[in-house]
Amino acid sequence: MQNLDKLFFNGDWSASRGNEWLPVINPATETEIARVPAGTATDVDAAVAAAKAAFPAWSATTIEERKQLLVAIADGMQARFDELVDAVSSSMGCPAATAAWLQIEGPIEGMRLFADSLDQIEIEQTMGNSLVVREAVGVCGFINPWNYPLHQFVGKVGAALAAGCTMVVKPSEQTPLQDYLMAEIMADAGVPAGVFNLVPGRGQVVGSRLSQHPDVDMVSFTGSTRAGIEIAKAAAPSVKRVTQELGGKSPYIITPEADLAAAVRYGVEDVMLNSGQTCTALTRMLVHRSQYQQATEIAKGVAESLVVGTGEDAFLGPMSSSMQQQRVLEYIAKGQDEGARLLCGGKAQQVDGKGFYVEPTIFADVSNEMEIAREEIFGPVLCMIAYDSVEEAVEIANDTPYGLSSAVYADNEENALKLARQIRAGQCYMNGAQFSYHAPFGGYKQSGNGREFSVIGVEEFMEVKAIQRP
Ligand code: NAD
Repeated sequence: MQNLDKLFFNGDWSASRGNEWLPVINPATETEIARVPAGTATDVDAAVAAAKAAFPAWSATTIEERKQLLVAIADGMQARFDELVDAVSSSMGCPAATAAWLQIEGPIEGMRLFADSLDQIEIEQTMGNSLVVREAVGVCGFINPWNYPLHQFVGKVGAALAAGCTMVVKPSEQTPLQDYLMAEIMADAGVPAGVFNLVPGRGQVVGSRLSQHPDVDMVSFTGSTRAGIEIAKAAAPSVKRVTQELGGKSPYIITPEADLAAAVRYGVEDVMLNSGQTCTALTRMLVHRSQYQQATEIAKGVAESLVVGTGEDAFLGPMSSSMQQQRVLEYIAKGQDEGARLLCGGKAQQVDGKGFYVEPTIFADVSNEMEIAREEIFGPVLCMIAYDSVEEAVEIANDTPYGLSSAVYADNEENALKLARQIRAGQCYMNGAQFSYHAPFGGYKQSGNGREFSVIGVEEFMEVKAIQRP
């Protein structure tokens, strides 16, 4: 990867106007592996101007041209698969073997599916005597986090390209590397100058300027609820469209009739994957009181069997940073203070004397009122909660400010579906199902606004015009 000392705009690599740098730290080795410029507000202005200038021509391209480009980008990602794995794994800690399928294969599929989704959009419709047309929303600003950096890049950039938008992207301070590779891949695939622009930098500087910028028509953000609120406030005076993918505290109901061992294993692995730094993580496991003791024993066994490290057999790596490790350890201490029972884990860990690891941790005897059951911990920490009736389980599941994801494990699909329909969340995984790039993704309540991926994710980047006929 070249040009890490530059920004990408108007189809070329240029120096930042600033003189500050952001180090990229490998959280497994605690060493600096790269540094990129901390962009300035002036850099953002130049990138937005490039995106604005490119918009008329790009938004006028045909569906067929945009489909071909999306496929070419997906092919380019496939060709540089190993580099993408390394960029993500080395900067945020997900073990390479896991990152390959979890962090890279999925986003490549997602990019390809955006091409297919263009066949499903009704670009023009007749309603009464009106011709209703869908058009690209304009210049977009994208602000991303560090936990699934390529996934979040593709969910925004792929959909915006499909819709005919131009864009400026700001990766997380911690994980800019895959975005640099994507800039190269997209230029090689033939993305015209100015359509895609990359300005790494701090949230308070680059993110804030993008949110406020009068020439940015839409801001799409993924990250904490705190930053999501600040961005929406900064965007309000210019009345731009804002979509937000925020946090979660997702419930997982295991019914008394379910296969308990399979259901508990699924839940523990879901939380521990990516070291718990997954916004959809099923961090509140709800188990019938009659099976609670048995479920805690199974859960403890599963957690203790997971390999921590970065090798081929590792299930979970370090936390993404020492700050994140500290945050998670503080929540664990809080859980103990609140009276939850630590079943396993709970401590910082090192592998070969290094790394910001946290042991896979499970709390039992958690009540839904505790802070560890209400706030997003974003670490390998599972809360197990007992319920007395399935009605009560649904009540507990919905008693949260969030509504991003959820899951149900029942004895069959019909019974699982009955519960899935009652949960107020943007996703529900039934009986061990996995994430699908074919479906829209996003949250209810304080988990956000808008959807990413699928045809619905592309429509987020479109305006609707009604042309009235006489
Ligand atoms: P964050 O929300 O602070 O940062 C995410 C992105 O927003 C980064 O690119 C950051 O630079 C930018 N940003 C921050 N403040 C901004 C502002 N005022 N205006 C514009 N952009 C701004 O997340 P973080 O600091 O990386 O992590 C903090 C916590 O957020 C985590 O512990 C976790 O709980 C949560 N988080 C959630 C998700 C998710 O997908 N739901 C992802 C990452 C982090």
